Amino acid sequence: MPLEIHQFPARSDNYGVLVHDTETGMTASIDAPEASAIKAALAAKGWQLTHIFTTHHHHDHTEGNDVLKAETNCEIIGPRGEAAKIPGIGRQVGEGDSFRFGNFEVKVLETPGHTLGHISYFLPDAKVAFVGDTMFAMGCGRVFEGTHQMMWNSLNKLRQLPPDTTVYAGHEYTQSNARFALTIEPGNADLQARAAEVDDLRANGQPTLPTTIARELATNPFLRACEPDLKQALGMAGAEDWQVFGEIRTRKDNA
Ligand code: ZN
Ligand code: FE
Repeated sequence: MPLEIHQFPARSDNYGVLVHDTETGMTASIDAPEASAIKAALAAKGWQLTHIFTTHHHHDHTEGNDVLKAETNCEIIGPRGEAAKIPGIGRQVGEGDSFRFGNFEVKVLETPGHTLGHISYFLPDAKVAFVGDTMFAMGCGRVFEGTHQMMWNSLNKLRQLPPDTTVYAGHEYTQSNARFALTIEPGNADLQARAAEVDDLRANGQPTLPTTIARELATNPFLRACEPDLKQALGMAGAEDWQVFGEIRTRKDNA
């Protein structure tokens, strides 16, 4: 595989991710949560930063932009819909855009809801997606700027990626997500098994990400809002998928 991916902790609960095309030497940072952590990761790998792929404007995803651009002259690619809020942005992208990164094609998916311009990056050849704060392991981002319907549509786009797609997300929130998910689907055996696995990983200081679309389809209650059994269990048998999603999101907000 000529694509190498390196994930490392940044700030208190963010993840930094470096994506490196071994053939061309191009290296992208997915968001820029903390310049010092990203520089240390680059140095450890011996990679030169050429790009930042920004998912959304929140400070914990963009605070390293200015420093990293000044020091490396990297190109910052980010969402057209919130370009004015992305420090140092060079190229603006939106739904349906694709661009080359070394030998790989990168497709842009608009996944609004957490913020209105939020985008995700999908590399079909490598079967890997970077979803920022749209989806987490067994969870999803808070709906700060958009609506429940908008966020459901975004998650539904991710649901339709190939099941074996590897998914990197912005935060390590997995343990609390698992605890909440079990309140929605206490009888989900896949979820029970995964929650136990996650507790073991965290007890050993290990990350619970990346995940895959298949695992999320089986255990993430926010992706499962369309499942008839789940709707029934919430007393929402006849409701629209996005309404069920909204009910689950509201419960999590108040948990
Ligand atoms: Zn965010
Ligand atoms: Fe975040």
